[in-house]
Amino acid sequence: MAGLLYAEVAFPIPLNRTFHYRLSEDHRDIPIGSRVLAPFGPKKNLVGYVVGRSAEKPSFPTKAILRSLDTQPFIDEALLELARWVSDRYLCSLGEALACVAPPALEAPKRQRAGERESESTRSKESPAPSLPRSLTLTAEQKRALDPLLAAADAKAFHPFLIRGITDSGKTELYLRTMDRVLSQGRQALFLLPEIALTPPFFDQLKERYGEEKVGLWHSGLSGGERYRTWTAVRDGTLQVLLGARSAVFAPFPRLGLIVLDEEHEATYKQEDRPRYHTREVALKRAELSAAVLIMGSATPSLESYWKAKQGVYTLLELTSRVEERTLPPVELIDRRPKSLEPGAPSQSRSPRGAGYAVFSEPLKLAIEQRLARREQILLFVNRRGFTPFLRCSACGWVSRCSRCSMTLTLHLGLGGASPYMQCHACSQREPVPIQCPACRRMRLRQFGVGTQKVEEELKRLFPFVKAARLDRDMASQRRQYEKIYRAFAGGELDALIGTQMIAKGFDFPKVTLVGVVEADVSLHLPDFRSAERTFDLLTQVAGRTGRGQVKGKVLVQTHHPDHYALQAAQMHDYVGFYERELGDRERLGYPPFCRLINIVLRTSKEDVVQSAADDLFGRLEKLESGAQLLGPSPAPYSRLRNQFRYQILIKGTDETLAPHLQFLRRFRPAKAYMSVDVDPVDLL
Ligand code: ADP
Ligand code: ZN
Ligand code: ZN
Repeated sequence: MAGLLYAEVAFPIPLNRTFHYRLSEDHRDIPIGSRVLAPFGPKKNLVGYVVGRSAEKPSFPTKAILRSLDTQPFIDEALLELARWVSDRYLCSLGEALACVAPPALEAPKRQRAGERESESTRSKESPAPSLPRSLTLTAEQKRALDPLLAAADAKAFHPFLIRGITDSGKTELYLRTMDRVLSQGRQALFLLPEIALTPPFFDQLKERYGEEKVGLWHSGLSGGERYRTWTAVRDGTLQVLLGARSAVFAPFPRLGLIVLDEEHEATYKQEDRPRYHTREVALKRAELSAAVLIMGSATPSLESYWKAKQGVYTLLELTSRVEERTLPPVELIDRRPKSLEPGAPSQSRSPRGAGYAVFSEPLKLAIEQRLARREQILLFVNRRGFTPFLRCSACGWVSRCSRCSMTLTLHLGLGGASPYMQCHACSQREPVPIQCPACRRMRLRQFGVGTQKVEEELKRLFPFVKAARLDRDMASQRRQYEKIYRAFAGGELDALIGTQMIAKGFDFPKVTLVGVVEADVSLHLPDFRSAERTFDLLTQVAGRTGRGQVKGKVLVQTHHPDHYALQAAQMHDYVGFYERELGDRERLGYPPFCRLINIVLRTSKEDVVQSAADDLFGRLEKLESGAQLLGPSPAPYSRLRNQFRYQILIKGTDETLAPHLQFLRRFRPAKAYMSVDVDPVDLL
């Protein structure tokens, strides 16, 4: 050890190289995987990661490491390897990948040392006796699925599973029983959810099952001290189960035996900032490196995962019926296309989304009325927040648009008596509501389309005594507000809940007997090859929120595309039918899972500059003659965002044909524009 005088350090910056430093007498023993503070450039100090050590003096002058942040390295061999894999796969620097594994800001609180606090809290809390295994009798389907899961846990080898289980089929019970087995072997388990809002019921269930002190929660809202304690408790093995969203996949488990990835298909598993990793892919690699079992579960697995399971890459387990002989609710499609055969009707009211267009069709209105009379609960789903997605002048055709983005401005009612405002949902900028048309000065501005606020207002207008609340990002920005509404609905104080996709997932309320989808088509029109899949997923999930109790449920879906295969399949609860049809389209058009994609977006404030930068890059990519298919360059679907013009190049290929492009892009920097590279993108907008 005494001879190792130099450290190789990676920094969390987008520079694809490492730096060498001298180790002074005091720092001689700093192990690989530690975080250190080191001078960087003439004036700055940065936190970096020791990724190598050597005795050989570099041929250039070196500076000394200033300080070591860790007494014990956060990162073991396996995590370092995971970081290298993330860096290679998603084109970020090793330091950026390491920043996911051991966040630079993760530090013991200054005043109170972590060790003291921890012993204190263990002393003060009686540890509850682990609850007895519940006497729940597994269904035949659950039993059949559990056997291979337990066998894989016993084998202590890497084994990926995909459970396709319809909503309310008892997938969670399978996760928990496999977890029981892994914990009894003295190993640890990681439970991943797509969104932090979904964690409370799972957290309670896990704590009750395994004991408060053995279960941790990881999310971005934790205080610095809580983060540090949770992280070190995972590393020291005191925490046996960690529940969390995306970033928990990097937690430093020394003995990981199981990863559960619930709602496997969710787009939120993809990180949209650098490094742009997909939690599912990282989880697969992590499980492989730890010789762990990975269970991915969903009622609507992503096409890619189901295809891989069918190919035998993952073991496929299927649950096709609900527990306790409950049935899936009937889904009715309500055709909202204008009936053009009615002569003499004023054209305004026939225009699909114009003024005079009723938010609720007659059948939906009637169904709501019946549920209210019977004191049953209602969920109303509309995938758009705000009051109305844009204003349009019926005289000259002017449309409200953001001055900085190629997006319409949504009309919002102010909360708590505040005045209304227009807001851009891309950049959040607010503007005043115009009274007259800014273009022709006439008073002919009309509201187009429906958002959550309008649904709430219309519901309260039609049924003045209804007790209703709204859950969307505007309402749920404060955690407390979200919990208050959630509790009020769960406790039966509310008749109806109106919301965006926030209410489509995970909610388990037995008294909900009606789900109304006010507008099913929003996601259908997105210029993205996954728009049909998204729509099908969302409708299936939202339909799954009802019929979970004694009284049977029902789903009413208002749509302008009742013949679309995504809606037809959702109506029939036909995942496999949808899968086969969609898979055929993907194969014909050459989209995943039949190829891999790289999405490159160039942006800058001048349109001609970004266009020529895109042309230049396209030419360079063409010269690689890889056999991959190059599409573009063309304006991105959001052609302008925050005053930046955006151009897009899409590369379709295989592992082999994409390799030269990845290698090139890792080193390439456009001279006059910003470039972002998304490997295996989930969102092409
Ligand atoms: P999923 O995740 O597949 O939608 P859950 O795992 O949440 O379904 O299970 C739905 C409900 O059924 C839960 O309340 C759960 O406790 C219960 N449940 C699960 N398995 C059984 C079973 N074998 N018998 C009775 N109830 C069950
Ligand atoms: Zn006008
Ligand atoms: Zn904007």
